[in-house]
Amino acid sequence: MRILLHVCCAPDATVAFERLKEVGDVWGYFHNPNIHPRKEYLKRLDSFLKLVKKWHLNFVEAEYKPQDWFKTIKGFENEPEGGRRCEICIRYNLEKTAIKAKELGFDAFATSLTTSPHKDVKFINEVGKEIARKYGLKYIESTFRKKNGFLKSVEYSKKLGLYRQNYCGCIFSIRQPQVEKVTPKNGKENKN
Ligand code: SF4
Repeated sequence: MRILLHVCCAPDATVAFERLKEVGDVWGYFHNPNIHPRKEYLKRLDSFLKLVKKWHLNFVEAEYKPQDWFKTIKGFENEPEGGRRCEICIRYNLEKTAIKAKELGFDAFATSLTTSPHKDVKFINEVGKEIARKYGLKYIESTFRKKNGFLKSVEYSKKLGLYRQNYCGCIFSIRQPQVEKVTPKNGKENKN
């Protein structure tokens, strides 16, 4: 099975690649118009390219089009993190991944977003399945943060020298630095 994995960032992609390669031939898809400013986008892309080189991964890079993303979330700029803006943003990235997967003849798609302790995994998987039905693809349901997935991603990042950002991505999240619910120190895991 050929799987196109939406890569939200290099650290989250480590565990996703590791687990999905047991299921099929995985290619990364760096589609992140929600990351601002451009300098930050390039920093996260560089970090992913570093991982690609070290692990000999296959990948596709989307054109960076933040203007399209801003149009999509218009009217929801002031939503709190985790609110409606995030739902639209996640749906947007997943749908673009499905469209690319279809175009390139992949059988399935997935997302590395579920490595993050900040994301609503239930929502992501529901949307993924809905989009899969629409495009006649398989969506690989995941909760990569489980089984110490998030902690492993932190360890891989340190070992491989991958950049780990301290905000989600869009300009609206810059003012809301992330508070990790899972830390390497206490090893507690968010069960969502
Ligand atoms: S906070 Fe993150 S998930 Fe939410 S809209 Fe911004 S980039 Fe997207």
